[in-house]
Amino acid sequence: MSFLSELERELGPAKLAVDAGSRRRLSRDFFRYSQVLDARLKDRLADCIVFPESEDDVIRVVSLAALHSVPITVRGAGTGNYGQAVPLEGGAVLDMTRMNRILDSGDGWMRAQAGARLGQMEKAAVQAGQELRIFPSTYVKATVGGFVAGGSGGIGSITHGQLWDGNVGSARLVTTDEPPRVVEISGAELGGVIHAYGTTGILSEVTMALAPRVAWTQAIAAFPSLDAALVFADALSRSGSVRKRLVCVCEAAVTPLLNAASPLFEEPYRDVVLLWIAEGDEDVTRQLARDAGGDVTRTLPYGKHPTLSDMSWNHTTLWARKVDPTWTYLQCGFDAGTVREQAKAVKERFGDEVLLHFEYMRGAGTLVPAGLPLLWYRSEDGIDEIIAFLKGIGVSVSSPHTWVLEDGSGRRQGWGQVYEAKRRWDPAGILNPGKLRGSGAAV
Ligand code: FAD
Repeated sequence: MSFLSELERELGPAKLAVDAGSRRRLSRDFFRYSQVLDARLKDRLADCIVFPESEDDVIRVVSLAALHSVPITVRGAGTGNYGQAVPLEGGAVLDMTRMNRILDSGDGWMRAQAGARLGQMEKAAVQAGQELRIFPSTYVKATVGGFVAGGSGGIGSITHGQLWDGNVGSARLVTTDEPPRVVEISGAELGGVIHAYGTTGILSEVTMALAPRVAWTQAIAAFPSLDAALVFADALSRSGSVRKRLVCVCEAAVTPLLNAASPLFEEPYRDVVLLWIAEGDEDVTRQLARDAGGDVTRTLPYGKHPTLSDMSWNHTTLWARKVDPTWTYLQCGFDAGTVREQAKAVKERFGDEVLLHFEYMRGAGTLVPAGLPLLWYRSEDGIDEIIAFLKGIGVSVSSPHTWVLEDGSGRRQGWGQVYEAKRRWDPAGILNPGKLRGSGAAV
């Protein structure tokens, strides 16, 4: 019997889709933000889509897939950027969105099925007087399993760091042993699944760390230069007197593109910092802005449209591409000590071909002006030239123009943990093949 017939017999037709429309829709993520990936990935298709409704369903699919050597690519909401959820070698896409229940929570933690949306978790946490410590700007749609396996950080990272910084408490993982095992992992073992693109195991449940709820407000500070905006962002990020969840610096030329989200910015466009700060910390923030030669020019209620997080992180690319799909982007780590010089050098060399915006965050406790600069796409060589220049001035670059994990991401913990996890938890070698070079399987 074929894999598909056995699968249908095991799960029933309601948990399986083989029609062309579903296969096309659920074999994609947001790789189109890269013209390079779009050309290479748009025709890759799964042979079937499976919608597990329980961990037991996951185990049954994995067991059959291992038996028939069929690749499995796990999918959350498909908001990843690098073709992470694209089934390079066909097989089954495991759509986790029906496993979306919040299971339990307590002081400082929340446990959910892997397909639960982060927006839903944040809402439940807030009702209980808490909040997620970190989430991506796609939190309304993105799943917790997809964030842990595919993301890195986002809103809240200015205070709480990235996924590796204690923000994931524990997880439950289905392996591809025959029969599949279910393992509960925590501590250092989590490093084997965080940002490993689902190549090392299938997350069925995740526990995320929560922080006490803060009453937030939104503010925009405007400056006469990008340099002044960076001075302010640095001071605010280091200040112990301002509680913050978002510190996003945008050079002036980025702001008209953000108007595609909401018409907040008017000519003459100014260099701005988009903020989520705690209510009560507005005066210190305003003073810091004035010290840097700018001012807080606008405050907006929190929790109502427009939402400044919708303009930050990779949402900036989304709006820029709505204005003109020639825009693409990079992911960078600038150096907090020399970011002003680095920014100046980029602008002198590339002008408006590279538009800068920075997401201030912490990684392993260190302040990092992460940046997702917009690039005017000329050619693949043009991207390589910009990457080489950035690296030459000390900026680390994670390229979103490759689907191979190690080629796209730097990893401060190294890759050993991930390779070890691949050996332990995917002995059948069927999870998301083609993404992890160190497994000998990247294509
Ligand atoms: P998917 O895209 O479905 O999957 C991501 C990866 O995880 C894939 O490799 C998939 O195989 C794997 N995976 C999914 N579920 C599981 C599971 N249960 N078990 C094992 N593996 C699994 N990312 C950030 O980190 N921070 C940001 O601020 C951010 N902003 C973004 C803004 C925009 C506009 C866009 C398009 C993307 C952004 N991203 C960001 C990337 C992405 O949205 C997030 O990482 C998001 O959390 C991914 O969740 P998802 O459910 O969509 O995962």
